[in-house]
Amino acid sequence: MSEVFNSYSKYIRETFGERVQKISVDAGFTCPNRDGTKGRGGCTYCNNDTFNPIYTSSQKTIIQQLNEGVAFFEPKYKAQKYLAYFQAYTNTYDSIKRLKALYDEALSHPKVIGLVISTRPDAITREIADLIEEYAKSHFVSVEIGIESTLDRSLNLLNRCHTYNETIDAFEILKNRNIHLGAHLIIGIPGESKTDFTEHAVQVSKLPIEFLKLHQLQIIKGTAMAKSYKNNSNAFELLSVNDYVEIVGEFLRHLRPDVVIERFSSESPKELLIAPFWGGLKNFEITEKVRKYMQFNAYCQGQLFK
Ligand code: SF4
Repeated sequence: MSEVFNSYSKYIRETFGERVQKISVDAGFTCPNRDGTKGRGGCTYCNNDTFNPIYTSSQKTIIQQLNEGVAFFEPKYKAQKYLAYFQAYTNTYDSIKRLKALYDEALSHPKVIGLVISTRPDAITREIADLIEEYAKSHFVSVEIGIESTLDRSLNLLNRCHTYNETIDAFEILKNRNIHLGAHLIIGIPGESKTDFTEHAVQVSKLPIEFLKLHQLQIIKGTAMAKSYKNNSNAFELLSVNDYVEIVGEFLRHLRPDVVIERFSSESPKELLIAPFWGGLKNFEITEKVRKYMQFNAYCQGQLFK
């Protein structure tokens, strides 16, 4: 049966011809939405502990973290290559000099063949894009932008402290530079309807993205959203697995057919997750549910893309 969506694993196989694994590094960045430049306290859902693996720590050098990451993954797949994944906080938010030193250090590791840089739309300038473009001349370099929503009212609700127009501007700066561009989007923000979710697919299809990561909205301990949820859980209509799978299926039908889906859901550590609890389903199990749902309904990615 032909694929009903573009999978990331297939993209990696076709691009590199071998297994390539991302290793997360925490380079000790902060974020303009935490240090007071744009806001304080951060986005209402944000707790960076949810995606920092055990070997990442801003107390260690980049090389140390990469070595520990390689030692963690190598017993499983000996021959694979690695991408240094600058994941925690806002990984373009510093001086050009410091960014260059950190990216250079990552690429000096003998097993690292490229960079994945996660950031916010308002932390991209032409100068930063010029720097990243230099690395992209000789390495695989990807920049992931946290879009989260294409609706300004949702961005306000999440205290993102940027607008969707700033997202469009960031991609304008980054496009046509041989940098692989990706985005994150949250599905299930309070106040967004099923029509809004499909409209997100229409809007992000206009961006020059190659990859997309989808996350279900999760209430995580230690966040502003966790406090709001405790005070008034009725304000949150959290999605069931089945609702989520249906929404994602419909979303994919409206999405540009060439976009690669890097992730369908997020798997937060269960000790940090307040809700929704989906019975401990792993990301690959959600992906399989989406695949089966689409196959059953004869859906495919881009079917309704205009
Ligand atoms: S989600 Fe990203 S932009 Fe928002 S507070 Fe956390 S690190 Fe900053």
